[in-house]
Amino acid sequence: MESTLRSQIARPNEHPDWVNIAFLLLTPIIAFGGTAWYVYYHGVTKLELANFTVMYFLTGLSITAGYHRYFSHRTYECSKPLQLLYLIFGAAAVQNSVLNWCSDHRYHHRYVDTNEDPYNILRGGLYAHIGWILYKDTRAVNIKYKNIPDLLKNPLVVWQDKWYLFIVVVASFALPAYIGLIEGRPVGGLLWGGFLRVVVVHHMTFFINSLAHMWGTKPYSEKDTARDNWWLGPFTFGEGYHNFHHKFQADYRNGVRWYQFDLAKWWLFVMKLLGQARHFSRTPEPLILKAKLEVQMRHVEARLAAAGAPERMWQLVQGRMEMGRVRFEQALVQYHEAKLEYTRQKDEWTKEVRRQWAEKLEFYQDDLDDARKRWAEMIRAMNRIPHPSAQGLLSLTFVLDLLKTRVW
Ligand SMILES: [Zn+2]
Ligand SMILES: [Zn+2]
Repeated sequence: MESTLRSQIARPNEHPDWVNIAFLLLTPIIAFGGTAWYVYYHGVTKLELANFTVMYFLTGLSITAGYHRYFSHRTYECSKPLQLLYLIFGAAAVQNSVLNWCSDHRYHHRYVDTNEDPYNILRGGLYAHIGWILYKDTRAVNIKYKNIPDLLKNPLVVWQDKWYLFIVVVASFALPAYIGLIEGRPVGGLLWGGFLRVVVVHHMTFFINSLAHMWGTKPYSEKDTARDNWWLGPFTFGEGYHNFHHKFQADYRNGVRWYQFDLAKWWLFVMKLLGQARHFSRTPEPLILKAKLEVQMRHVEARLAAAGAPERMWQLVQGRMEMGRVRFEQALVQYHEAKLEYTRQKDEWTKEVRRQWAEKLEFYQDDLDDARKRWAEMIRAMNRIPHPSAQGLLSLTFVLDLLKTRVW
């Protein structure tokens, strides 16, 4: 069953899609050549820059917060007006309808790095970035759309698919030209808010399929090519932490820490305040930690294997790491459960009980910090495992180092 579906949904790359090729080739020429020509002869106005900026963020966020995190992954609940905004300005990003985009994206997650992944990075960075769009998608719609039954039931999404080209013409090109008309410069509006913006947003979102599978680290999972990359976030509306996203795709965030750049996450925070989005799905912290520690443990194992560590040392290290991992995870669960209980019940408690709980929380927090510190020390010690060519003498220093770090 699974193998039949796989053979049916692989995108055949045989027939060039001349419409897509023409669009993806001509738009950059008009965007860069045309805008440069226009600026040279007519200058640039503040309204044109604002036209570009507002359209850039509206269309980019409609793709990341809308197409990606809402329609593809259903990571939160979204009001009808906000869905409509995503559908109109997502179409204006000219990256196909929600039905097409999300079906491809769900297959990307399910079959990542294989032939059935529409933008398989193993076929090369350029292919994953743009090459795959240059071929006709000849798959039968009823088969291809097997993975989006929920979206096919949404009348707004079906409406967008039906009127997709019309929305593109109106929202992506006529609207910015009309804004330019306000100051008698429709061509300026069309170039800045239309062509130049389309091309820039195209490549910013294409980077997620190419660069986010090529450069960066893999802190949460090493099963596939998805990577975390802090500098990619600002270029991709906050989708730089792609390794986290592939591991925890039900999470509404990509940048899971408050300081990690994630524009879509911050946009959704505002949408929540405005009552347009709710019920955000978050991965429990202990699960995130577990994934991270498992990856770190595998690194140490690989280092030990490369260093040709003797069996005895191997067992010693594994035992210590396992203890450290359990201790760290327990401390985190203990702290989180207590915090949850405190937030849930504190309004019903007397002042005295609240004070006692605050103390308890502080104690758990210290315990967690301690466990984190010890784990980091242990990983640092492991990273001093000598290079295979320098075994013997150096491995002794390493074991001494390791034995110095206390787990509890
Ligand atoms: Zn995704
Ligand atoms: Zn990906």
